[in-house]
This record gives sequence, C-alpha cells and structure tokens, in this order.
Amino acid sequence: GPLSVKDLAEKMGREVSEIIKKLMLLGVMATINQEVDVDTATVVAEDFGVEVVEVEPDEDPTEIQEIEDAPETLKPRPPVVTIMGHVDHGKTSLLDVIRQTNVTASEAGGITQHIGAYQVRYNDNKITFLDTPGHEAFTAMRLRGAKSTDIAVLVVAADDGVMPQTIEAINHAKSAGVPIIVAINKMDKPGANPDHVKQQLSEHGIMPEEWGGDTIMVPVSAKQRMGIDDLLENILLVAEVMELKANPNRRAQGIVIEAQLDKGRGAVCTVLVQKGSLRVGDTILAGTCYGKVRAMTNERGEKVKVARPSMPVEILGFSEVPQAGEIIDSVEDNEARTIAEKRIAKQRVQELQSSHKITLDDIFNQIQQGELKDLNIIIKADVQGSVEALRQSLESIKNDEVRIVIVHAAVGAINESDIMLASASNAIVMGFNVRPDANVRRVAEQEKVDLRTYRVIYDAINDVESAMRGMLSPEF
Ligand code: GDP
Repeated sequence: GPLSVKDLAEKMGREVSEIIKKLMLLGVMATINQEVDVDTATVVAEDFGVEVVEVEPDEDPTEIQEIEDAPETLKPRPPVVTIMGHVDHGKTSLLDVIRQTNVTASEAGGITQHIGAYQVRYNDNKITFLDTPGHEAFTAMRLRGAKSTDIAVLVVAADDGVMPQTIEAINHAKSAGVPIIVAINKMDKPGANPDHVKQQLSEHGIMPEEWGGDTIMVPVSAKQRMGIDDLLENILLVAEVMELKANPNRRAQGIVIEAQLDKGRGAVCTVLVQKGSLRVGDTILAGTCYGKVRAMTNERGEKVKVARPSMPVEILGFSEVPQAGEIIDSVEDNEARTIAEKRIAKQRVQELQSSHKITLDDIFNQIQQGELKDLNIIIKADVQGSVEALRQSLESIKNDEVRIVIVHAAVGAINESDIMLASASNAIVMGFNVRPDANVRRVAEQEKVDLRTYRVIYDAINDVESAMRGMLSPEF
C-alpha cells in the first residue's frame, strides 16, 4: 500500500528533508505526511541506492478490475477487419466499394462520414471494417496493448504482385497472430496474373488453399466491383471458424480508433466496443482521459443509444482527447477521476524509470533470469543477398535457452514501421549497409528500441553471439 514520506524516510534511514528534495526533483511536491505510491517510492529508494523488495503485489489502482465473463454469457459478435497491403494496390478503393455494398435506397441520400470504422450488413451478418488502411495504424494501436483486429485482408494488385509493404503487412499480421485473407485486386487489368501473386505469396509462407495451404485468396476488382461478395462471404466463413464472442451484458470495454478536438463539439472520439454495451450517460475512462458519454452516432450520422460488441460509434463527452489505440472502459462515476489521476502519476514515474524493452546489452541477464525465450530480430539490408545471409547466419546461432526469431527481414532503409513492429514485438532492429534517417532514430529512441547498423555481417553475428554469452563489449 502507499507510504507516507515520513515512513519512507524511516525505512531508508534518511532525513525527511532529503526525501522531499528528491521528490521535488521528480516533480512531486510532497509534505511529511503525504502518501507516495509504490512506484514513486521505488524510484526514490533506488536513487538512494536502496534495493526495493516487492512483496505481494497489491491490486493495481490504475487498472480496472477485469470481469471474467462466464461462457454462458458470451454471444456471437461480428468480426473486425483491417485492410492492409502495398501502397496503390487498392486498399482505399476496396474499403469504399465494401462501404457501399449494403447502402439501402433510404440511406443512399444520407451522408456517410469518415469516423475511422464502419459496419456493413451482409446476408444477415455484420462485418466491421477499420477504415484507416495500412499496417502502420494497426501496429500503432497494438503498441498501446490493444488488439483491434480479428482478420486482416491483405490486398495485392494482380498486375504488380508482392511488394515491400506487402511483406511488411504479412509480418505485422503474423506477429499479432491475426489470420490473413488475401484479396487479389485489379483483376480487370490486362496484366493481371493471379497465379504469379500466389506463387510469390507462397514464397513468403502464405500458401493458397487450392495448393494445400490454409490461406483463402479471392480474386477481386474494386474498380469493377467484382468478387466483393465472394470476399465478404469468405470473411464471414473465417469469422465463423474463429467463433468470435463477447458478453454484451456487462460494463463496456473497447478501443479508441480515432480521436480529435472539434472546435464546436470538444473531444470527438470513435470507439470500437469490444465487450459489454456502451450507453449514452455512461462514465468513461481512456488512459488518463475521462468523461460522460453525451451523444453517440454511427458512421451514417444517426443517433445511437446503445453500442454493442464490434460496433463502432463516434462519441462526445471526453474532457480531453484520448489517444488512438487506448483502451476505453465504462466505469463507476466516482472511479473515473481517481483512476485517471493515478495513471498520470504512474506515467510520470514510468517516464523516469528505464524501460523494459529488449536491448542486446541486457539479453544475457534476461536469459539468466529465464525471462527471455525468444530473441526477436528485424533485419533490414541493402540487397536481398545480405538479408538472406544475415537471416541464415543468425538463425544458425545455437543456444539452449533462447531461440532466435526473425520477425521481419527485408531490403530497404530502416523505416518507422520497422520501429513500431520492433516495439510491439519486443524485437531489436539490425541494419546492414542501410541507415535510419534522423526521424526514424528519434522514434526508436522514443520507443526505446535497440537499433544497430553494421557494415560487416560477421560483426552483426558476433554481437548477437557475444550478447547471448553476456560478453558484449559496451558501445562507444
Ligand atoms: P491504396 O493506396 O492501396 O489505398 O490504393 P487506392 O485504393 O488509392 O488505389 C490506387 C489506384 O489503383 C487508384 O488509381 C485506383 O483507382 C486504382 N485501383 C484500385 N482498385 C483497382 C482495380 O480493381 N482495378 C483497377 N484497374 N484499378 C484499381
């Protein structure tokens, strides 16, 4: 539980004034009888060189107590789909055509708004699409700990084939454990060659069903609205096998898909409900932001009173703008503010503490403590030959305690998407004859991702081998 400043001083054999001074340096104005939370106390103690032993962890006051949903409370819910793929392969076009599939005559005049997600009805079933295409958005959300997507639709242009961002998308989806359905788009084009696309995808471990694999591949043309029914049917088929369910009769929990400040309306935020039902009047909390749902609308601008699992709604009522990817909870009136304030305090402390992200320098410790089973690595290099050479050499490093997993390997400069994938999958990034630009470096620093560049393959292998044995010489 919390300690007062006085308790803390006594336990550490220090003067109260010393503790208060230290707290001030941490940005906490404290008096002698003020309580400090465990995280803050830990930082202070460690600053004085005092080791902190964790006793039975208390319930985390910044977390909402999770409700276990009994199996009989679970009801089927629509799948949530993200569309990924290389630029210009037709993600946006496909999202647009699908959006129009179920527009009935009466709705046709209505204005559809971009709220970040939409739901379509198809053969009496619903499907939710996140309409910010791309794996970057997907992984950015995942970084905040939220799982937004059930199924990824990978769009590959039939005339262009597998491209760098196709491979990125595959690895982002794989790393998140999300099943992939391939939409082979632009089938109307004279140069369309779906077999070539299948061949290329097979080389990246995505094998079509008709060749004995387990990935559904649907030929489509967004331009000619061809194959869209087939795609939607297959999404429902995969969803059925996944048996997606949630309890609609409990307090709501969801994820923030988009949020911004509107001059007239204040914080406007699209929420995808994942469990329970969200209602107008509910007190809500997302990260350090809270408020009361004043109004909810769907993507057609219609008022909504209740939003059930897998339904996206735009809501008004947050006092501040929460971040995309944040978990949103409906809570008791009196909880919201207290928990938000505790989270702000915790954030401040965490910013001061070092991160727990993986770095080559500390993998030996982690291996020793049995904390690390997989060493995840992302490889970027200037030519395919080097990518393969590095991959094979790294994968051949033998170690009883830890397995090397290449999360992603590709030709090209180290980009922001690599850093986000590394952060989300706790990987290190190794570049061979490629350099990140200043912006990418900044993001890596911010995400605390270990980013290393090499000119000699042997040096890269050597670093990983030495690090595993705890003999990596410090970087200068
Ligand atoms: P995104 O970057 O993946 O979102 O791709 P877009 O949806 O913006 O499409 C890129 C270009 O391809 C646009 O000029 C589209 O009109 C075109 N396009 C998209 N789908 C098709 C298709 O099925 N057939 C043809 N011929 N062109 C398409």
